[in-house]
Amino acid sequence: MSSTQLERSTCALLRSGGYKLTPQRRAVLRVLCDSECHVTPAQLHAAVQRERDDVGLVTVYRTLQLLSSLDAVCEISMDGRQPTYLLRRPREHHHHLVCSGCGRVVDFTSEDIERLAQRLADETGFNIEGHILEMRGRCPACQSSAPSRSQGQGRATNR
Ligand SMILES: [Zn+2]
Ligand SMILES: [Zn+2]
Ligand SMILES: [Zn+2]
Repeated sequence: MSSTQLERSTCALLRSGGYKLTPQRRAVLRVLCDSECHVTPAQLHAAVQRERDDVGLVTVYRTLQLLSSLDAVCEISMDGRQPTYLLRRPREHHHHLVCSGCGRVVDFTSEDIERLAQRLADETGFNIEGHILEMRGRCPACQSSAPSRSQGQGRATNR
């Protein structure tokens, strides 16, 4: 699905939910549609600002919240970090690799995992309606930078 189609279908989703598509919201949407990996609201805001300087961070947050309530974005929250967002491409079910060093998120799909779910359903008689898989570790960039084992270990559970 191209980003234009994606934008169109997401706009339709918002409209059918009775939400107004302000030019500012549209700008946020457009940037989200172009983005292929998970972004933080701040990154999104910076990108949107290149298109329109009248879009505030609050609008970015509100739009994300809205999309999230419609289940149109996939949201990942890491301990003590800003959540990151990616538009859910229809039918494109995926999983995540999350770097505990820098918080980078990589999406991946896997036939093996989908087959495993099917096999489990067959074996247990469960009607499996969905699953979430998140792999945690360190991305190549973080592995090659100085080892900072102590960093990020003091897990703040303040949320
Ligand atoms: Zn994702
Ligand atoms: Zn990293
Ligand atoms: Zn899956």
